[in-house]
Amino acid sequence: MVTTGRCRFCGREESAGQHRAPGPKGPICPSCVEAGLALVRDGEARSSAGGTTLLRLTPDAEAACDQCGRWERLTFLGFRRPLVRMSCEELGSVICAACLDAAGDLINKASRGQES
Ligand SMILES: [Zn+2]
Ligand SMILES: [Zn+2]
Repeated sequence: MVTTGRCRFCGREESAGQHRAPGPKGPICPSCVEAGLALVRDGEARSSAGGTTLLRLTPDAEAACDQCGRWERLTFLGFRRPLVRMSCEELGSVICAACLDAAGDLINKASRGQES
């Protein structure tokens, strides 16, 4: 897991005291997790804090999530359901809603750990 370097979604370097979630190809910062969680809900494209464009992928897009490597999941009955994913147009990165949730949890825990 890569924790250093630029955020995979906004391209910004880590700022002091900031907790980011690691990923196989690079980290994701709190503002991109926050933007992603809103985006997977409302489907609205938005600009990241670094000025890149964040989009929700259409369900038929086969771009796999950078974090978990999946783009669909098998349901209980064996149907394939595409995962809701956020993509950064400029940086070509993809993350699914489940991995955004996990990244958010990780960042929250890390932030709390620092306060106590
Ligand atoms: Zn970012
Ligand atoms: Zn994922």
